[in-house]
Amino acid sequence: GLDVAWAERWVRRTADAVAGAKDELTELDRQIGDGDHGENLNRGFQAVLAKLDEPGAPERADVGDVLMLVATTLMSKVGGASGPLYGTAFLRAAKRSARPSIDESGVVVLLDAALEGVTSRGKAQVGEKTMVDALAPAVEAATAAADAGSDPVEVLRAAADAADAGATGTIPLVATKGRASYLGERSAGHEDPGARSTALLLRAALDAAL
Ligand code: ADP
Ligand code: MG
Ligand code: MG
Repeated sequence: GLDVAWAERWVRRTADAVAGAKDELTELDRQIGDGDHGENLNRGFQAVLAKLDEPGAPERADVGDVLMLVATTLMSKVGGASGPLYGTAFLRAAKRSARPSIDESGVVVLLDAALEGVTSRGKAQVGEKTMVDALAPAVEAATAAADAGSDPVEVLRAAADAADAGATGTIPLVATKGRASYLGERSAGHEDPGARSTALLLRAALDAAL
């Protein structure tokens, strides 16, 4: 199964990946938003890293404890739309991961809870050019993989691949939620930054399990 050490590796790899993609994410957001997505997420995950390594922190016994740390930190450090959205996603995922390790069905539960968090907070559906366009297909692919008897790593791989395709698939879409919706038809032809960062997060979850 995927244990607390995996969850911590996931966070560290995400922080690395976000730092590496900061300019790319910000550039995507410059095209259809206000050009701060990379900065926002990087600020958040650097703060998560600091918390993770804080001396004297309480012992993290469950996968959910790590995810809760991410949730509370993102909510307090990341402004804009993505802070509360990712914060709620990690909060819901944390609550459903109160175990020392998770198996393939636990991965599905985690991702499904995250999607539920994003949609309950942001009310976006698939096709509105948001992070939902990466996360929803990831949940679907993970569910199919788990149902087919895949191990947790393969379930994560299915999720990461689907999120990646979903993010790319936002390019032709017209945004109807978030700042990009202010552009109307002119939002088409650009990848949604939040969908790209979601794909990056799920790729980090896989890499942490390899
Ligand atoms: P802001 O738009 O406030 O500057 P960010 O730039 O950090 O915040 O995040 C923008 C991303 O947030 C978008 O690319 C999109 O994926 C996501 N987003 C915005 N509104 C919503 C929503 N209602 N539901 C889901 N995701 C959303
Ligand atoms: Mg922005
Ligand atoms: Mg902003």
